[in-house]
Amino acid sequence: MNFEAINSPFLVPFSGGFRIDDQPTRPPDDQADKKTNKDLLKSLVAELRELQQVLYADDRYSVLLIFQAMDAAGKDSTIRNVMTGVNPAGFQVFSFKVPSAEELDHDFLWRTSKRLPERGRIGVFNRSYYEEVLVVRVHPGILDGQKLPEVPDDLTEFWRLRYQSINEHEQHLARNGTVIMKFWLNVSRDEQKERFLSRLDEPEKHWKFSVGDVKERSHWDSYMQAYEEMLNATSRPWAPWYAIPADSKPFMRRSVAQIVVDNLKALDIAYPTVDPAEKARFDEMRTLLEKE
Ligand code: ATP
Ligand code: MG
Repeated sequence: MNFEAINSPFLVPFSGGFRIDDQPTRPPDDQADKKTNKDLLKSLVAELRELQQVLYADDRYSVLLIFQAMDAAGKDSTIRNVMTGVNPAGFQVFSFKVPSAEELDHDFLWRTSKRLPERGRIGVFNRSYYEEVLVVRVHPGILDGQKLPEVPDDLTEFWRLRYQSINEHEQHLARNGTVIMKFWLNVSRDEQKERFLSRLDEPEKHWKFSVGDVKERSHWDSYMQAYEEMLNATSRPWAPWYAIPADSKPFMRRSVAQIVVDNLKALDIAYPTVDPAEKARFDEMRTLLEKE
């Protein structure tokens, strides 16, 4: 395994002890202003475009970016803003919503496995199998529809085994060349309220508003508990979680872009070199072409 996650103030430690209550949802005070963050994002996007080209030419690694967050944290716009410069042939985004009947006929890692990125490409998951230890944990009644042969009354062990399945799955992917980075966009409850209100206030944002999202908000504390446990259980060197303060969008986007770029820069990717015998033939080909 050649990928080693770069450090970052937002990296969720691999050894546990991460507490959501201690985490900022706003940028640190000394952080750049909106305009500077936007400028920084622009140059990071350009760097990412270059890095994806090398990733593609190198053709050994694929990159998987997973985004999880409460509603209105800004998953969609972050994905759009970070990936905006990358060659569209070089990346793919998939969103995972309530599973279909066909998806429920398989194990919980099936639907995402079909969407994993190929070598040389960046794949983005907007939600993922992590919903299986988040929304399903907050609403364990969902398990009744999952057609599982056995669900114990005490679910503690059940969730632990789901974390284990996820860790082993990700480790397998990493061992085979998938570079995994996971982002939890940490929006505050107050900021979510403001964003919902602005969706109600502005007619052009009405389409984004969902009555269900406001209902889900009443489970905030249960969600935070599920997130905290999930982040501690599944942030690992081969598949790190980064907890990104999400109340300021320019800062959040820049921070995500920075982490992706820094991790890719640390990867041993390069344009393949042509061997000398082959290179010698280039001169022959040049002569042939020029003679035409
Ligand atoms: P947006 O609202 O921005 O279009 P979204 O990701 O919120 O994007 P929705 O269709 O509103 O999309 O919501 C998807 C819903 O599907 C979420 O409430 C999520 O918790 C739920 N979901 C995703 N995966 C699962 C799963 N495995 N089991 C149950 N519910 C899931
Ligand atoms: Mg939604």
